[in-house]
Amino acid sequence: MPKRVVFTADAINEPFGQAIYERISALDLPIEIAKNNRITGLRGADERETYRLAKNTLAIVNAPPSAFKLQPIPPSADWQMNLAEGCPAHCHYCYLAGSLAGPPVVRAYANLPEMLAHTATYEGTYPPNRSWQGNDASRPTTFEVSCYTDVLGIEHLTGSLAECIRHFGERQMGHRGHGQLRFVSKYDQVDSLLDLPHNGQTRARFSINADIVARRLEGGTASVEARLQALRKLALPKELGGGGYPVGVVIAPIMPIPGWREHYTALLDRIAEVIDFPRNAGLVDMNVEFISHRFTPGSKEVLLQWYPNTSLEMDEATRAQKRNKFGGTKYVYRPEEMKEMKNFFYAEWQHRFPNAPILYWT
Ligand code: SF4
Repeated sequence: MPKRVVFTADAINEPFGQAIYERISALDLPIEIAKNNRITGLRGADERETYRLAKNTLAIVNAPPSAFKLQPIPPSADWQMNLAEGCPAHCHYCYLAGSLAGPPVVRAYANLPEMLAHTATYEGTYPPNRSWQGNDASRPTTFEVSCYTDVLGIEHLTGSLAECIRHFGERQMGHRGHGQLRFVSKYDQVDSLLDLPHNGQTRARFSINADIVARRLEGGTASVEARLQALRKLALPKELGGGGYPVGVVIAPIMPIPGWREHYTALLDRIAEVIDFPRNAGLVDMNVEFISHRFTPGSKEVLLQWYPNTSLEMDEATRAQKRNKFGGTKYVYRPEEMKEMKNFFYAEWQHRFPNAPILYWT
């Protein structure tokens, strides 16, 4: 629950902004309506205080025009469509550090329905690097909605994820669309999603890790066990009382911590125990993504300001450097270490889940 909720002048005039206002009023949270479209009062005396103020604030704003020009997001999906930017959790390796400018406030978009309608213009279009999705132009265009936020972490406040799920489900039912939604979360409140008309057009994924990594580094999120139970609820066929969603497991960020084989074996065993229903008969549509830990000079600098006492290893001397196409550097594990981990995960996954394809390792 945020300590402060601010609506900009434009956002409160949007019908979806009004719907968010109703939800938040019902939760008895203090609400401010700004006179203009600026959110102020996010800066503290130092970085720590700014972090605390911003993380406790939910801003409801209109997405800027630039948000309507969707960017490719390989390897996760074709296009990213952000329903919000900023996240209430406190992961020491946070992917947002260094990619979002300014204080880490959560900004949820009141003009979401307009953004969703606009995704129709991207259906049937595919960025050049399609990765695991293949080059078949008749396949659905995929939209990743959780690049810059944790969608379930704010769903009780905004209802934005449900809006997206309904949109893609209903387009498909009317045979108008050819788009699919993908989301990923480290939270577990999924009951409000179970009865939505997703029509198989949303893949619900949960980001999980070895318990020891999650406990040390993923502040404010649901436990790994709770996330697995949420995965189970969404994956369970409707006739068995679940959501009947296509689902996915994202194991991230994978780290070669001492005893990593044992820790990750325990995790894989637990997934197999939890997803124990017709998976074996091939009735559950599940796949997996493997993402190893990486950082950039910029993200390291921000993370060390946010979490000065972190136990997260970010030692450039033990890493390999990778350049992106814009000339930026990121630090990944060395090739031999990567290969060892990748081989382990591929073999252990395929052995336990022969019907759940591996999408990629990165
Ligand atoms: Fe960052 Fe994702 Fe953790 Fe949120 S859940 S703090 S976006 S890494």
